[in-house]
Amino acid sequence: MEPNGILIYGELNKENGISQIVFELLTKSAELKEKIWNQQIMVCIIGPRMNYDNIIKSLSEYGADKVIIVNDNRLSEFDENYHAKIFTQIAQKYSPRIVLIGATVQGKQIAPYTSVKLNTGLTADCTDLNIGDNYLLLSTRPTFGGKLTADIYCKTFPQMATVHQNTFKAIKKENQIDVIYDWIDIDKIENKITKINSIKKIISSKDINTAQIIVSGGMGACKDNGFTLIYELAQRLNAAVAGSRSAFEKGYITKSQQIGQTGKTVAPDLYIAVGISGAAQHLAGIKNSGKIIAINEDKNAPIFNHADVGIVGNLFDILPDLINELDR
Ligand SMILES: Cc1cc2nc3c(=O)[nH]c(=O)nc-3n(C[C@H](O)[C@H](O)[C@H](O)COP(=O)(O)OP(=O)(O)OC[C@H]3O[C@@H](n4cnc5c(N)ncnc54)[C@H](O)[C@@H]3O)c2cc1C
Repeated sequence: MEPNGILIYGELNKENGISQIVFELLTKSAELKEKIWNQQIMVCIIGPRMNYDNIIKSLSEYGADKVIIVNDNRLSEFDENYHAKIFTQIAQKYSPRIVLIGATVQGKQIAPYTSVKLNTGLTADCTDLNIGDNYLLLSTRPTFGGKLTADIYCKTFPQMATVHQNTFKAIKKENQIDVIYDWIDIDKIENKITKINSIKKIISSKDINTAQIIVSGGMGACKDNGFTLIYELAQRLNAAVAGSRSAFEKGYITKSQQIGQTGKTVAPDLYIAVGISGAAQHLAGIKNSGKIIAINEDKNAPIFNHADVGIVGNLFDILPDLINELDR
């Protein structure tokens, strides 16, 4: 079968709604599809037995041509074993030309498995996608520690790429949509994992994907009560807390709060970078921010080249003053 169309992994969030990344990938796919003879955009959803009407409607509003739903109550929660294997079987069956997956916690488990099973390449953490003159997917991603960007063609099909949320904007584009309820024999899927227990981790921060304001801490805040001050400032501003990879490695934030090339790409109206030097890998995650305020004691820190407002000084002096001012 000739490879045909673009297949998107239709990630469901914990509330069994469609994740925002899917709408962003749909918008990008609508642009790509025009350059590959208007081939179909397909979205594959793997989830429990439930009413999918609202989901189907929202996918049609963002330009999907077809939705393929595999539903079973064993799929009510994301399970890397089932979801990766089912998505791979769907990709084998529909033989897409391009496969796009969010670089999310789910996507990072599905994409490598699928690419190995389909014997094809995978370009991860792309910052842009285009169609080249040869009609192949042209994936752009940072390389050499973020100092350069590479344009990558994959010559085998499907051409696979993962993209962080907030890399592309989701724009509505109403379309007629075909709905297929497909069937995969789940009993035949070997499950080597037995779930014993699951523990909910409570993170005392707003969601950085949707927050309008983010207060982000770096290595400079990883001492004394630096992150306590960051959380206090965030609380006054109704902001989410995030950080650099150094802050993650030091244990002050979780992986899902890390911003940058190997973390999340965010698009708040305001990003406040506290004690962050502004390495290229960090900047990759904040380029879609509205305004950036940087607080750093080193006046030559690279972050100041990207900030709308720069405050040179010690964060342990500046943050308490800011907090006091907001409390007045
Ligand atoms: C392949 C690869 C992927 C990577 N992915 C990521 C990624 O996703 N995200 C990411 O963030 N990094 C990533 N990195 C790491 C990145 O290169 C940097 O090492 C990291 O971003 C530095 O974090 P930082 O700015 O917090 O720390 P530093 O570079 O150590 O900067 C700390 C800053 O705090 C300032 N400071 C110190 N004390 C104070 C004070 N009291 N008051 C005010 N300012 C103070 C200092 O002047 C300095 O500028 C990646 C690296 C590689 C090679």
